[in-house]
Amino acid sequence: MEPIKKVLITRDGKRYYIRNEKEDCHTQYGMVKKSEITSAKDGDMLTSNTGKELFLYTPSFKDFYSRIKRGAQIIPLKDIGAIIAETGIGKDSRILDAGAGSGALSCFLAHLAKEVVTYEIREDFISIVKSNIELLGLKNIKVVQKDIYQGIDETELDAITLDVPEPWLVLPHAASALKAGGFLVSYSPSITQTADFVNAVLESPHFSHIKTFEIIEREWEIKGRKVRPETAAIGHSGFISIARKLQ
Ligand code: SAH
Repeated sequence: MEPIKKVLITRDGKRYYIRNEKEDCHTQYGMVKKSEITSAKDGDMLTSNTGKELFLYTPSFKDFYSRIKRGAQIIPLKDIGAIIAETGIGKDSRILDAGAGSGALSCFLAHLAKEVVTYEIREDFISIVKSNIELLGLKNIKVVQKDIYQGIDETELDAITLDVPEPWLVLPHAASALKAGGFLVSYSPSITQTADFVNAVLESPHFSHIKTFEIIEREWEIKGRKVRPETAAIGHSGFISIARKLQ
């Protein structure tokens, strides 16, 4: 599929992606002519044939990210934000992630970090991750077909992020792959997996348990005096545990 070249956004935030500027853009509010699109620059207001106002801009990471393919259940943004904030992952960080799944977390981390390696056992998911990497134009991320329970090849890592069914099996490998002070993050949908992981961390001489938490996001609807929580909210996603490598 052609990459997204431009975006049209309405005042109420509906977005339409333009892949081919040489074709008319059809929206639920009618059509915007190709001649208007090709002669417009970012910030220009275009009007559809039904009179709806749409504004043009060049897509950013977040526009591409909202189009990623999903195979496995992805980690939602509220949890990605918390993982980044708790670990301080940034432009100098080297990160190992597993399992890649759809690559949502690993791609978001690669957008911010120096380099990311992500392990995945399933070939069908590996091809989804690769197409998401291409969509996002990321050059600093590598997908490896590998079972993380068998070991980690990388060393001196700043952080390891886990989204696998038995994260406690990774502890001995994480101990040798992380830098002293490096972060081990585990994300699990179920509290029993979380407790098994944290209890293994507590028993390990190599790690300190920093915290375990979940993020509950409640979106609000605001229109005039109608100010209230949205009716449909994200229910539960997962628990996040953060540990640090001691030695
Ligand atoms: N965090 C991902 C979703 C991961 S879903 C995202 O945000 O998109 C969990 C993935 O872990 C699945 O794709 C599964 O195939 C993979 N997996 C399970 N066990 C694994 C293991 N031992 N090593 C590597 N990957 C594993």
